[in-house]
Amino acid sequence: KTPVPSDIEISDATTPAHIRDIALAAGLLDDEIFFYGKTKAKIDLSVRDRLSHVQHGSYVVVTGITPTPLGEGKSTTTIGLAQALGAHLGKKSFACIRQPSQGPTFGIKGGAAGGGYAQVVPMDEFNLHMTGDIHAITAANNLLSAAIDARMFHEATQKDKALFNRLCPPKKDGSRVFAPVMLRRLKKLGITKSDPKDLTDDEITRFARLDIDPATLTWNRVLDTCDRFLRGITIGKAATEKGHERDTGFDITVASEIMAVLALATSLEDMRERLGRMVVGLSRAGDPVTADDLGVGGALTALMKDAIMPTLMQTVEQTPVLVHAGPFANIAHGNSSIIADQIALKLVGPDGVVVTEAGFGADIGMEKFFDIKCRYSGLLPQCVVLVATVRALKMHGGGPTVTAGKPLDAVYVDENLELVAEGCANMMQHIRNARKFGVSVVVSVNRFATDSDREIAIVREKAVEAGAIAAVECNHWALGGKGAVELAEAVVKACAAPTNDFKFLYPLEATIEEKAREVCQRIYGADDVVFSDLAKAKVATFTKCGYGSFPICMAKTHLSFSTDPSKKNVPTGFTVTIRDIRASVGAGFLYLLCGDIMTVPGLPTRPGFYDIDVDTATGKIIGLF
Ligand code: ADP
Repeated sequence: KTPVPSDIEISDATTPAHIRDIALAAGLLDDEIFFYGKTKAKIDLSVRDRLSHVQHGSYVVVTGITPTPLGEGKSTTTIGLAQALGAHLGKKSFACIRQPSQGPTFGIKGGAAGGGYAQVVPMDEFNLHMTGDIHAITAANNLLSAAIDARMFHEATQKDKALFNRLCPPKKDGSRVFAPVMLRRLKKLGITKSDPKDLTDDEITRFARLDIDPATLTWNRVLDTCDRFLRGITIGKAATEKGHERDTGFDITVASEIMAVLALATSLEDMRERLGRMVVGLSRAGDPVTADDLGVGGALTALMKDAIMPTLMQTVEQTPVLVHAGPFANIAHGNSSIIADQIALKLVGPDGVVVTEAGFGADIGMEKFFDIKCRYSGLLPQCVVLVATVRALKMHGGGPTVTAGKPLDAVYVDENLELVAEGCANMMQHIRNARKFGVSVVVSVNRFATDSDREIAIVREKAVEAGAIAAVECNHWALGGKGAVELAEAVVKACAAPTNDFKFLYPLEATIEEKAREVCQRIYGADDVVFSDLAKAKVATFTKCGYGSFPICMAKTHLSFSTDPSKKNVPTGFTVTIRDIRASVGAGFLYLLCGDIMTVPGLPTRPGFYDIDVDTATGKIIGLF
């Protein structure tokens, strides 16, 4: 067997088609394509309207068993399956995936373009910058941060009338007008006047003074870099800020609520509303202060206007791929955008298939895909593809999680039927969970060179025993789409006979506690869920604010069904403690923190950037995975 070259070698050896050819073949018109060079293009949302009469294609979500450091291959399978459907079964197909954060690209090695002969090309352009969406989010997020601190500074140094006069400055003729965004604040305050001169003194104070309580601010600055020294910072230290210092911090850009908004928005108008209603903190009276209260919702939308268009790229087999959004999978929902899925479903038409990916394991990514993303999109998949690997199941079955000196995968090379059989319990629990939503499950056993046929056979048998309608071996990493033809056939069969009994895990009317109980007990297998005093207080506050009917987003480790990452396989006899709850009001969910969640990864001693360079003779990037 010839060894499979590295991801970047495969990417470099591929000559991608001009993206216009990919776009036209996918059914797009010239007017709907905005080129970013020859291999990337943004797609205008108007295509959805043009194709409004077209029936959607089949919708398939790829998820996985509980992740291990060995890597399971969800992105690789998403791409491989789309390739098999498109290039080998002759179906119209699309893969819809997330844009990766640049932080980990330079930190702990690993991209998100898939791998081997099932990847998006050019992978360097995919992994770095792409079409600038993450940079747009950084700009928008930090404009809002600047607006918050500047406003607190101006409010601290100016009396109400002076503040009001500056917010609504007189024109040449002496008249004053409200900026359009201010009308949103007036409406929220119940002030029906449209001429600034008509406001009473009391109304001027209520309108002009946001009176933000700095202790309640939850809006951080962001950067798409693993810069751990920005996790906690003090701002306002220059003399010009006159002692208005404040402790705050940075998150990585993909953890910004604006990323979650981008992924869940269904139109430009919807994105405008969501950006405007993002809550940054509370006033001293306890009222939520929004981006629109700060007057910045429109400007944020202006910065995000191009980011709302998905980016079209292609796989090594020229299958079209829409790359769009990449929210964190713990403090956010971890799924690519609704808009990309909608566009792809229209473009493939009734006989085609769209393969979308949910981050982390199925207990997190798939649950949030259904209960958050599908709720906002109204789209329901016909099939769940659950990715499992023999190596990872062995680790769940009790195999080593750390090794002395050797890379971890070097100890997972020998056949061990007992470990595989034991670890299958993890996969079986995920299959049963997917069935709770009423959707058919196909298991994809992503084959590694060291897997034995007998090990694969055990996984297939156990998958069917747990309720999967099919379980097939896949070789797309080594062989490209032709290695996933059997998977594609199983998926097509599942989509042709949909169960049509989809149900969400919980109704939105349930209380926050009831929703958490459903997820913790029915998906994670917890005995109980308890709320800290702080979390209980937040339940009361958020319910009062009217956020009680949001879906919930569990911020839990992805490495275990439980909240303890060291507990592999199917832990039992545990209780989930909800430490704190935060609201992403613009995105439209509450996130429940179970344990500590890191929102800026650190760089290791030997970061990925050591290997990355540019071949100055050709201009090509080298050393990227
Ligand atoms: P996930 O989406 O589950 O995080 P990826 O699809 O990104 O996983 O794959 C993780 C890594 O594993 C990638 O570097 C990919 O090239 C590699 N990989 C995936 N499948 C295989 C396979 N069958 N054999 C060898 N390496 C693989």
